[in-house]
Amino acid sequence: MRKLGIWLKITPALLLVSLLCNFLCSGPVLAWGATTCFFGRCMTHQYILRAAYELLENDPAFVDSGFPGIEEIVQNDGIDWQTNLSMDWINSSQYDLLGEGPDDETKTAWSDHFYNPELAEGSNGNAPMAAKKYFIGLCQAMYGIEGGEGISSAKGAAWSAHFLADMFVPYHVIGMLASEAIVMNRTGNYILDEKITGPAFLYGRPDKPEEPPSGWGSGQNFYNALRRYVEYHNDVGPEAQRDWFDPWYLNGPGFGDLKYIYSSHVGWEEYANAQRRIKPYDALGVPDIPVWLNRYPTWETIFDNQAELVEEYCKKAAKETRDNLEYYWQNPEKAIDASIESVYTLWRSTISALKPQVEIIPVGSEDDNIYQVRAIIRNVCDEVAQQVLAKITVTGGVLESESIISIAEIANGVPAEVNWDIQSDDITQCQVVVEVMGVFEHTPDLQYAVARPEPVNTLTISVSPSQVYAGGTVTVTVQVYPRCETGLVITGLGPLRGPESPYYTDAEGWFSAEFEVDESTPANRRFTISVEVTELELAGTASFQVVSESNWWEREGREPYRYKDDTDQPVE
Ligand SMILES: [Zn+2]
Repeated sequence: MRKLGIWLKITPALLLVSLLCNFLCSGPVLAWGATTCFFGRCMTHQYILRAAYELLENDPAFVDSGFPGIEEIVQNDGIDWQTNLSMDWINSSQYDLLGEGPDDETKTAWSDHFYNPELAEGSNGNAPMAAKKYFIGLCQAMYGIEGGEGISSAKGAAWSAHFLADMFVPYHVIGMLASEAIVMNRTGNYILDEKITGPAFLYGRPDKPEEPPSGWGSGQNFYNALRRYVEYHNDVGPEAQRDWFDPWYLNGPGFGDLKYIYSSHVGWEEYANAQRRIKPYDALGVPDIPVWLNRYPTWETIFDNQAELVEEYCKKAAKETRDNLEYYWQNPEKAIDASIESVYTLWRSTISALKPQVEIIPVGSEDDNIYQVRAIIRNVCDEVAQQVLAKITVTGGVLESESIISIAEIANGVPAEVNWDIQSDDITQCQVVVEVMGVFEHTPDLQYAVARPEPVNTLTISVSPSQVYAGGTVTVTVQVYPRCETGLVITGLGPLRGPESPYYTDAEGWFSAEFEVDESTPANRRFTISVEVTELELAGTASFQVVSESNWWEREGREPYRYKDDTDQPVE
């Protein structure tokens, strides 16, 4: 009872202190900072996204690439540190980090943000696979590929970039799986190999170097770190998986959230965030980033290749960070610059410098419906594209030539032209897809591009019925493709009386008007109407016939037929 009295007295004071501490110190971060609220504002991830996007936007391959917009992308990262009154008492089942970004611990597992290249594959963290998953989502959304988990292109871009950028954080290429840490703790194995923990200087900060105290890494003894981690691991709701042990993440003062707010890990990232403000992205001073090596493309493996390369690329990044751990720890702005250029590389590999443009040109006479599909393929990067293949797929028409055409190489400024012949009775219903594949040895590139022809500038004109008697009415209809509002010049109306020029289509490119055939029009005359669309340089004709009363059906008082078919029923 007395014990309860004391708690009742000190709890409000403790609550106040921790609230104050919470407000006054930097926000928790589970990687480069991404927190967006209060004094804990630490938006390094967002900074990396924006800087990488600027590089991508200035890349000639970006134009017409369909890559998502930066504001949408940035909205898919960022977390808020939960400033609610929960003081993270043991077993309080609350979550500390929530938001749109992958650092929201209810959205991803901790191990998705880590990869320790010094440990055996399979138990060394999941970041490369997490980056790959969201990269696939980005490509599926951008290229309309079926399947996938409905990841939007903006989220795919943000999250794949996030997990890759985490690989440049020294504290994200050390550590081990929770399952192993829990066993170590239970069996009293507190002496941990440096392969797991990384070097002891990670306890301090470049501006405040410090030796780790006993139990927190001194002599590789991590007794306290393990014990505290296991408590924290269990102290979370069912939505989160705190499945990665980072010995430097919970070593702050052991009171409430302070243990991670004042941890070595968080302290360093706050330092990094401050450094990048002082030393923003410097293209000339970027350290070597992992090399992206395109794979030889095949039609079937384009996206699988890139996805596997993303996983490899993340592992390379983690290895480079681990091999240069002290350099990146001492110079976080360099690690940030390297992650900016690597994120740009990752995104650049989803688009191509190959830019096909396709048009369909009517070539045959109006009756044989032959069209030429012309593809102009430009290469907008300085490296020559080699072994280029252009493939056409036609539905609603017949291909009259080889579907795949090969072009030895395409250099920047020297576009290649390829042509196919197709036959289609109704070109407006014909679907044409042109895919281009080419090899880039040095430039990160998807090595694949797809283009659909601009709607053919076509004009369809009809006069209905096509046989009419004097005094009868006909309907003149015009459909223009592409569908747009435009002026029509209609001549050769002959005996037709009706609306006067100027004539315009509606927004759908559609025009329709009724005309009466002058009563005095002699029978058995054929008239041809001409329609011109100057704006689209289109022209076409349609004809009709004025028939006489002697026509048999006239006598029978029936509407004249356009023509008879074997059912002897009028054809609408
Ligand atoms: Zn992260």
